Amino acid sequence: MKEAVSLVENSKRILLSGHLRADGDCLGAQSVIFHALRKLGKQVEVMLPNAPDNRYGFLEAHTPWTLFDGTLPAADLLIVCDCNQLDRLGAMGEAVAKSDMPRIVVDHHPMEEDHGWTAQVHDCSAAASGLLALDFAAALGAGDLPLEAYEAAFVALMTDTGWLKYSNANAAAWAAAARLAEHGVDTARVYDLVYQQAEIGRPLGMVAALENLEYHADGQIAIASVSQTRLTELGGSMEDTDDVLDLLRSIRVVEAVGLLTEREGGMVKLSLRSKQVLDVNKVARTLGGGGHARAAGATFASGTSLEQALVQVRAALLGAL
Ligand code: 5GP
Ligand code: MN
Repeated sequence: MKEAVSLVENSKRILLSGHLRADGDCLGAQSVIFHALRKLGKQVEVMLPNAPDNRYGFLEAHTPWTLFDGTLPAADLLIVCDCNQLDRLGAMGEAVAKSDMPRIVVDHHPMEEDHGWTAQVHDCSAAASGLLALDFAAALGAGDLPLEAYEAAFVALMTDTGWLKYSNANAAAWAAAARLAEHGVDTARVYDLVYQQAEIGRPLGMVAALENLEYHADGQIAIASVSQTRLTELGGSMEDTDDVLDLLRSIRVVEAVGLLTEREGGMVKLSLRSKQVLDVNKVARTLGGGGHARAAGATFASGTSLEQALVQVRAALLGAL
């Protein structure tokens, strides 16, 4: 933390970023740091490797971002949120690796090896990177932040803990949620913005995923998958996958869940969740991805079909059990 603070103190222009297809935690952490740095009089820019999930678009109103178009803007310092491997930034990560900008990571994922960070704000016990961002803002002496920053921190915390229901929702997470509510965050408004603005095709998207449900090992493993073709046939949509994953995890005998979705352009994305014992971060790593012990994911190399990905996921999950 100390090194990170002094790097910021010695920088004027600061670039913020995070992982591909930024989620609520990634965008929330960026937003907290953005407002803290602005309060400290820094020039700040948020640049994402690609477009985030639509449901977080409301955050852009107070934390404007641009998308990487092949060139990194000139800056004295880069701060990367919610991932600690540069390959999670796709092509933007390659540009970062080539630049000599010092870089800080603000993250809560296990860090298996040194990825060349100049300084780290890293704690695996933090429920969300957004909470580490609040600690960072405090260490920088930013004082009280605007309500928008607290709202963004709340988005980060609540989306990464499934509204405080997953095993990462420790006492510090619950205390932080209460503190953010005391700061004036309209918690019901955030719930509505994040979870109640889905497209009308969402139920049929869930149908498309669930019609391919398969159980293995007496139901300890559940795998669902959805192809782009079937989604289109049904008129379904599947932007975020939380509901399907939650439903499958609600089955008593299920320990681990995999959900494969074919994205536009044919890319296959895997989400993994587990309940008590299975380390899905390890499973995801064998498939070229990563994450946390109870929530992880991977993106298959382009050209991998949904069927081919399914074969790999079945083998990886059954092997880990
Ligand atoms: P989700 O299933 O919600 O997309 O992601 C759950 C967790 O898995 C996140 O914390 C994220 O860090 C990790 N994750 C998701 N997709 C990928 C991926 O393609 N690569 C890696 N390394 N991690 C991923
Ligand atoms: Mn996170």
